[in-house]
Amino acid sequence: MSNQEDGVHCVVCGGDSFRVVNDEWMKRTFRFVENGQLKMCNGCGAKYLVCEQCGGLFTRVHPALEPWEVNQQCPKCGAENPDVKAWDGVSAR
Ligand SMILES: [Zn+2]
Ligand SMILES: [Zn+2]
Repeated sequence: MSNQEDGVHCVVCGGDSFRVVNDEWMKRTFRFVENGQLKMCNGCGAKYLVCEQCGGLFTRVHPALEPWEVNQQCPKCGAENPDVKAWDGVSAR
């Protein structure tokens, strides 16, 4: 991974410009997205769960997400998300 995760920059392209998006599929698929907010990178389209505490990028979310890829803590403020913690890797419900 070339870009370090800091909760501010996109880990895929390094961009720092994001907009809030609504993704029904991801809401249905990931419980922590259903209860949270999603932001998309304006540069490359990568999507992130927004940290409820600091508004930073909590963890990247994509359709083939694996449990080991998910941040257990916000890289920016260190907050934990109970819904992320509870996620067992089952994507399709
Ligand atoms: Zn990006
Ligand atoms: Zn945070």
